[in-house]
Amino acid sequence: MTKAYEFIDHHYDVLVVGAGGSGLRATLGSAEAGLKTACISKVFPTRSHTVAAQGGIGAALGNMGEDNWKWHMYDTVKGSDWLGDQDAIEYLCANAPEAVIELEDYGMPFSRTEDGKIYQRPFGGHLTNNGEGAPAMRACAAADRTGHALLHTLYQQSLKQNVEFFIEYFVLDLIMDDDVNCIGIVALCLEDGTLHRFLSHQTILATGGYGRAYLSSTSAHICTGDGSAMILRQNLPLSDMEFIQFHPTGVYGAGVLITEGARGEGGYLTNSDGERFMERYAPNAKDLASRDVVSRAMTIEINENRGCGDKADHVLLHLEHIESSTLHKRLPGISETAKIFAGVDLTKQPIPVLPTVHYNMGGIPTNYRTEVLRPTKDNPDNVCEGLMAVGEAACVSVHGANRLGTNSLIDLVVFGKASSLTAKDKVKPNSKKIQINFNKTESIIDRFDKIRFNKGERTTGEVRRSMQKVMQEKCAVFRTHDLISKGIEEISEIDKSMDDIGLKDKSLIFNTDLTESLELHNLMAQSKVTLHSALNRTESRGAHAREDHKERDDSNWLVHTLSWLDDKGNVRMGKRPVQMNTLSNHVQPIPPKKRVY
Ligand SMILES: Cc1cc2nc3c(=O)[nH]c(=O)nc-3n(C[C@H](O)[C@H](O)[C@H](O)COP(=O)(O)OP(=O)(O)OC[C@H]3O[C@@H](n4cnc5c(N)ncnc54)[C@H](O)[C@@H]3O)c2cc1C
Repeated sequence: MTKAYEFIDHHYDVLVVGAGGSGLRATLGSAEAGLKTACISKVFPTRSHTVAAQGGIGAALGNMGEDNWKWHMYDTVKGSDWLGDQDAIEYLCANAPEAVIELEDYGMPFSRTEDGKIYQRPFGGHLTNNGEGAPAMRACAAADRTGHALLHTLYQQSLKQNVEFFIEYFVLDLIMDDDVNCIGIVALCLEDGTLHRFLSHQTILATGGYGRAYLSSTSAHICTGDGSAMILRQNLPLSDMEFIQFHPTGVYGAGVLITEGARGEGGYLTNSDGERFMERYAPNAKDLASRDVVSRAMTIEINENRGCGDKADHVLLHLEHIESSTLHKRLPGISETAKIFAGVDLTKQPIPVLPTVHYNMGGIPTNYRTEVLRPTKDNPDNVCEGLMAVGEAACVSVHGANRLGTNSLIDLVVFGKASSLTAKDKVKPNSKKIQINFNKTESIIDRFDKIRFNKGERTTGEVRRSMQKVMQEKCAVFRTHDLISKGIEEISEIDKSMDDIGLKDKSLIFNTDLTESLELHNLMAQSKVTLHSALNRTESRGAHAREDHKERDDSNWLVHTLSWLDDKGNVRMGKRPVQMNTLSNHVQPIPPKKRVY
């Protein structure tokens, strides 16, 4: 079968897979450094999930009240439940203000204060004075369409540079050399069905999260974690996959997001007694406690029969007390979302909401220079040459066990740029072309053909739904050994049924059945390592709440989880130390303590 395909070859200094915020920032930085850069995306760049980001991008600019990047760092370490690497968190928070000003200089249309500065609002878990003070005004926002503004700005700037975009190209797998270092990728052009080999001195994976492993998720349908699955297929590990963020305010029934910015502007939650229950769970931060805390509180209220509606299965988010001119100016997008998806006029009625899968803290382990790690027994920081990862696909790790709102967008631009600086260090402009022989891509094509021509009775959609159902029920906000074990059993059965998927359409041109099937294989691999990682971690930390191990256990579990998946579908677990030291002596390490809001 293999001989039937002809490859079209391309050569670059730097190749970026993904055109979300992180991919475009990496692309732009590499091109600005004079490196011959290509950016590949399975969708048109401005359709990447980053476009949906609403509430803001975190940076201690101090435009609307006193702030300091060290307080941002404190909040991020605490938010991560001490699982974030403190060198990377220092890098993130110290570089955040400059990264936002850079976006402003690139032309990003931020909302403004009366005196023309970038508008900033409070967000969950962001406080002043090392967690002791009032909420910090730290989320820089373009109304409630911050991601939209950011993505369009970065795309336009990239077009200005000499970047080559390959749009609607679906990347299948990584190409590795004899030393198993990365030398490029194989992609299918969705428009004309041709196959391409992209060879490059540095490949940067910016492929986003895998929210679609779950039934109810705020993520776009394209969020299938393709890059992370490519990592697993190379026998490289993923890190901290048990940490899945549930956003407190997904619209009940639809799962669409209502930004935390809504609570930042003064919104609050109530149960069926009309009680503002967050005051009981987080007396200080209340509705602006971090997301894991609020999601757990909501789930407890519902489980203890204080849910709202006929089925007592959701809670209410109130915004009707806020001036309608403020809602119109600061939250125009969610006013529309509430109308369309909940049939609610939020100036008059509360919105029914439920915790919904929102973000993956886990992903491809990297150092703060964004190089992908291939930890060995002797060296947990060993690097896989030629390969970097950024954005939600990566686990650098600045979010640890729980990400704070607005810290993803800033992660995208700070580490997107960091990857281009690393590329600049490692690659000379117009480097020599990499040559390879055919057998380096043979196994990629074999796998592709197997999926394309497999004979079977089941459909991709059917199998995907059963996988999503298992993840939603067995790996949710609260977990136990028995529940997760049941999930592992069920997912193994569903995984076997993948061999019974038969595609009706075998063609190569805009064949969505084929791409969705490739995506399902990627989701399945990550669902498996997620469940195993969740079973493995016998403590509660951040978003991982084990009812059978309720306390955080720093003596055994202040470590990153590593998970490998072999070709037979078996998962192997390992560990990596958390970096508790800072990068410089501008700031001292923040020692673990109990996390209360
Ligand atoms: C509704 C919503 C609102 C959010 N609001 C905020 C917010 O206000 N603040 C905040 O900080 N965070 C927010 N987040 C989180 C944040 O937006 C995301 O984590 C972030 O945008 C992810 O960006 P990314 O660059 O990693 O990937 P994405 O934007 O997801 O882009 C992934 C890219 O990879 C490409 N790709 C993937 N697989 C392949 C493949 N096989 N071949 C070729 N290309 C591929 C895609 O085409 C796409 O271009 C929000 C998330 C959601 C879902």
